[in-house]
Amino acid sequence: MFSKVLIANRGEIAVRIIAACRELGISTVAVHSDADRDCLHVRLADQSVCIGGPYPADSYLNVSGVIAAAEITGSDAIHPGYGFLAENAHFAEIVRDCGMVFIGPSPKAIRLMGNKSQARTTMVEAEVPVLPGSDGPLKSKNEALNLAKAIGYPVILKASSGGGGRGMRLALAEDQLANAFDTARNEAENAFGDSSLYMEKYLVNPRHIEFQVLADSSGRVVQLGERECSIQRRHQKLIEESPSPALNSDLRAEMGRAALLATRAAKYLNAGTIEFLLNGDGSFTFMEMNTRIQVEHPVTEMVTGIDLVKEQLRIGFGEPMSLSKRRQIRPQGHVFEFRVNAEDPETFAPSPGLIEGLVLPGGPGVRVDTHIYAGYRVPPFYDSLLAKVLVYGRDREEALIRSRRALESMRVDGIKTSIPLHLRILDDPDFTAGRIDTHFMERFLVGA
Ligand code: ADP
Repeated sequence: MFSKVLIANRGEIAVRIIAACRELGISTVAVHSDADRDCLHVRLADQSVCIGGPYPADSYLNVSGVIAAAEITGSDAIHPGYGFLAENAHFAEIVRDCGMVFIGPSPKAIRLMGNKSQARTTMVEAEVPVLPGSDGPLKSKNEALNLAKAIGYPVILKASSGGGGRGMRLALAEDQLANAFDTARNEAENAFGDSSLYMEKYLVNPRHIEFQVLADSSGRVVQLGERECSIQRRHQKLIEESPSPALNSDLRAEMGRAALLATRAAKYLNAGTIEFLLNGDGSFTFMEMNTRIQVEHPVTEMVTGIDLVKEQLRIGFGEPMSLSKRRQIRPQGHVFEFRVNAEDPETFAPSPGLIEGLVLPGGPGVRVDTHIYAGYRVPPFYDSLLAKVLVYGRDREEALIRSRRALESMRVDGIKTSIPLHLRILDDPDFTAGRIDTHFMERFLVGA
């Protein structure tokens, strides 16, 4: 196994990766910005290196700084976590060229799945269902107009290099298309330096359902079941759960098979996620593949009992995944994940600052992944995620009751958090009945 791994990330995911390394006897190197000297990941790692100023561009996105830190500490491998450099094929290549292991897929697979238009084409070839839409990038506004007429409105224009919900524009009818095309192009050019767009049919009330996959260098590919991620605001997930209340065992098996096909088509290695949209009529289509460990990975860990980050390290080292071939992966019980953010629960304005007091929930079925502690000052430079509260129950009903109990007992003094919002969602009859889709939050916030 590796003897030393550098974690090119911060916050809760860096803490999570350190835990997996420690259990495997691997020593850890944290990198951090000037603003993160007191972050828990720095305190927990065996070594730490300051790699630059507070802004991500100066530190966590600073490729030469990260590589230099890995070289001077004699690290064998780099775990990128999620965000920052995790889906940067160029970075993965440099890590490899410097004689270290990038814990993730090959640069080629990152590049292929990172171009959403190419990813779509790959899935069409592999016979994974996709929404009606363009074959490759759109060449002109005229082509877009003709195609939209053929597939029928509403349609969505998406940036080929897009991510994080940016560079997407909806056109409900023909008179909106020209405008949507220009805005999406500009946004794509500004955000990603690539103005190319593709088009898809827009589904009115879909669910977002994703499958966790693992692939190792022996050629073994497995899927570990789904996560329902329909509770989102502005394409940012707020609550995830598994199993999805919308799947029966036949549909689950069918989607799981499509996830395996998609993973093989991408020639994928390590942990990844296949995202699908599920329509009200039970039809589902590939949306994109995330080529990294995701924020919501512990949902799958809690229903399957599998430590995904340890599997990532084993696979990265070239070992086979440790899941027994004979024993089937059988998810059990029901899990919710609540993302606790440093933000105003009414206005969603960021709320960084000093955490004056902290009480974390515990007890049966509760797991909290976090980097905060009493006396920690939340810096304003990074995403607002403070903690992920995960709750297990034997069934959805027990998980819901336990979620309320856990979130009611959590206290974060000094800053505002999304805990009150989560408690209100837990009161919503549609949420508790599992009647949710990607527009749930819009309806919920209008009704509030
Ligand atoms: P990003 O990578 O920028 O997050 P995605 O392609 O994953 O973008 O889409 C993000 C969200 O946008 C989805 O979870 C879904 O809510 C919505 N969405 C994307 N494509 C469609 C579509 N064709 N029809 C309806 N909703 C869509």
